[in-house]
Parts: sequence; C-alpha cells; structure tokens
Amino acid sequence: MKRCDICPNNCLIEHSICGRKAIIDENVVESTGVAVDPIEKKPLYHFMPGSETLSVGGIGCNLKCLNCQNHSIAQPVNPSFVPIRTFSPEELVELTLEKDLKSISWTYNEPTIHPEWIISTSKIAKEYDIKTILVTNGYTSKKTLNDMVDYVDAVNVDLKSISDDFYRDVCSGRLNDVKNSIEFYYNNGVHTEVTNLLIPGYNDSTESISALCDYICSVSDSIVLHFSAFYPQFKLNHLPSTSEDTVFKACKTGKATGLKHVYPGNTHSSHDDNTYCGNCNDILVEREYYTVKNYINEGKCPTCGKNVENFVF
Ligand SMILES: [Zn+2]
Repeated sequence: MKRCDICPNNCLIEHSICGRKAIIDENVVESTGVAVDPIEKKPLYHFMPGSETLSVGGIGCNLKCLNCQNHSIAQPVNPSFVPIRTFSPEELVELTLEKDLKSISWTYNEPTIHPEWIISTSKIAKEYDIKTILVTNGYTSKKTLNDMVDYVDAVNVDLKSISDDFYRDVCSGRLNDVKNSIEFYYNNGVHTEVTNLLIPGYNDSTESISALCDYICSVSDSIVLHFSAFYPQFKLNHLPSTSEDTVFKACKTGKATGLKHVYPGNTHSSHDDNTYCGNCNDILVEREYYTVKNYINEGKCPTCGKNVENFVF
C-alpha cells in the first residue's frame, strides 16, 4: 500500500487524514473561496506592509485542532457538501492582476496539503512579480518543504504551542515537525513570521510563553512573533476568551527575551502594535486595525536615517 509523503502523517494515499484525493491535477485549483484581504490580516506585519493580497482558501487540513476557527472547510463533516470553485493557475494570476494586487496568499485551510497548486500558480505569478505567501500550520514533510521553497516568498507559521503534549492532545500532530518547518523557511531566506494563539489554561502559562519565546529567539531574534487572543471556538467552545492582559504580558515576555518584533493580535482595546526604530525609537510603521501608515523612507528611518532591517517591501 502506498503512503503519502506530503506531510508527517504519512497516510495511506486512499485514506488521507487531510482529505487530499489520491490524484491531484496541478492545473485545477479547488477553492472554497477567494477574497482580497489586508496583508496585516494574515498576519504579516513586515512583508509588503499596507498592501492587499489575494487570499485563496481550499479544503482540508492535516491537523485536527479542537479550536479550529475554520473547521467548516478545514475539518468538514461531509467534504462533498462544501461548495468548491475551480481555477486554473493562470486564472488566479489574472485575478490578482485585475485587482492590482502584488501577492497571492494561500490561507483559510492548510495550503501545504496541495503543494502542486502552490507551485504551479507561483511559477506563473513570478513572471509578473507577484509574490507567494503561505499561512500554514507548519506540519509539513521535509520533502514538501524542499519542493516548495523556491516558490514561496513569505510565510506565517502557526506555532500552536511549545509543548509536544499540546500538539498531540489538541491538534493530533507533533511539535518537532512544526519547529523544523519554521527553521527551514527562515534558514532558506523565506520571510518568516510566527503566530501563537494563547488558549486559556492550555498554553498561556508564564513558563509556556517564556519557552516559546526562547525557542523563536534561538532560531533568530528578528523573526516577527504575533501573540493572538483566543475566542471560544468549535470543540473548545466552553473556554473563556484570552484576557488582553495575558496577550500584552506575552508580548512583554517576548521583548524581554530579546525578540525585536512582537505584536499583539485579535485584541479589541486600542493597543500599540506599531513598529518603532531600534535606534531612535521614532515610529516607522503605524497600525490601527488594518489601516497602515508606513513612514519608512527608502528603507531608512525618517528621523535618524538608520537602515531599517527585517522588512520586505
Ligand atoms: Zn530612527
């Protein structure tokens, strides 16, 4: 019996956990929805800030998170009931050009379960200087990472916890494969941002947050880290939301650990998620929800003139 090598699950091809079919046509992208989103919503804060991106969603996921906020498409009870629209890679690129966008984001479900579609679309997108973005759980095999890396410009990897037990119990996955993906993307020059969703009682202890920050810092202190607030979802509907205080404390911990860029996400009250100059502390990028003002002037701080690092424009 043949096994699938796309992700660490190594399923029998006919019985995939993610719902991937046995035969995939690289020229027929099966989508559950296409939308134009601010790139900050992915979230990516240091990649083409203030731009909009063409978001493309698919169906299925190789993890089974109890708190999945897109479970209707990521873990559908009956996949054949989910409305699908097909696009050729050319059509997706045409749509991006029509809307005057500079990037395509593979998002909403886990995109890397169909690397064929990412690669075939990116090959055409490259001809028009359209960038390829993945919003991914990072639960990806080394083979798939190698196959995709030349076709991916930026990623946001969801690092759900720094505990392997959490991955086993809440997500039906393993931590090490996700760490491997973060390191792989970063070390291969893909712009890498990481999101951690803080779930009350599950991964929001001081020790857990510290250990996660230490890990990211050990890969690079310039990786952008987003701490995001949880809202009751799906099979964790009985839990409270994350307090804003917990999110802000986590951000403080990240900065104290030495990470240069840590941002709060999914919080309601007015919070500071601006980027400041590391040299003179003046404001470089001002963000209020999805309204973005970019003061960076030809790659330099407008006040002190120092080169701004860790941004892709
Ligand atoms: Zn400055």
